[in-house]
Amino acid sequence: MGLEEQLPGGFVLSTVESLAGYFRKGSLWPATFGLACCAIEMMATTAGRYDLARFGMEAFRASPRQADLMIVAGRVSQKMAPVLRQIYDQMAEPKWVLAMGVCASSGGMFNNYAIVQGVDHVVPVDIYLPGCPPRPEMLLNAILELHDQIQQMPLGVHRDEAIRAAEAAALSAPATIEMKGLLR
Ligand code: SF4
Repeated sequence: MGLEEQLPGGFVLSTVESLAGYFRKGSLWPATFGLACCAIEMMATTAGRYDLARFGMEAFRASPRQADLMIVAGRVSQKMAPVLRQIYDQMAEPKWVLAMGVCASSGGMFNNYAIVQGVDHVVPVDIYLPGCPPRPEMLLNAILELHDQIQQMPLGVHRDEAIRAAEAAALSAPATIEMKGLLR
């Protein structure tokens, strides 16, 4: 909770929002966290050819307390899930999670009891990146999409309004086929 939480909606809050979004997206530091083959592509993204440094993000932090972006690069085993959650909990707020690759997003081809079927069972995910493995260009594109999300992040009363609107939309959404079966 910061000063922006105390501000009433209006011009001042909108200005603070856009400034906070601008500075937050320009100061993202990823946590050092590679799980499987996707991590090789993530490492390639930081090298000279793709140059993640153009966004000031080349310094992957060894301490979660200095990181605000977790790139989950690779499949998450059941054994690793509590460790991943602990690292996420130790990261500073506000923080974001990028699920890189089909394995992190949904379990991918590892449809078995040893692999978590999507890292969103363990931590909230802000952006999903498909592919096996996604190329560095795709990771760069996902990072740019995340920058847009961060730039438009509502604060204070605007965030409360956004949460209420999302809840209302979820409640008014048509029932899925499975739910219809249960309601019958
Ligand atoms: S998506 Fe493909 S490259 Fe990435 S961890 Fe899974 S198997 Fe490996």
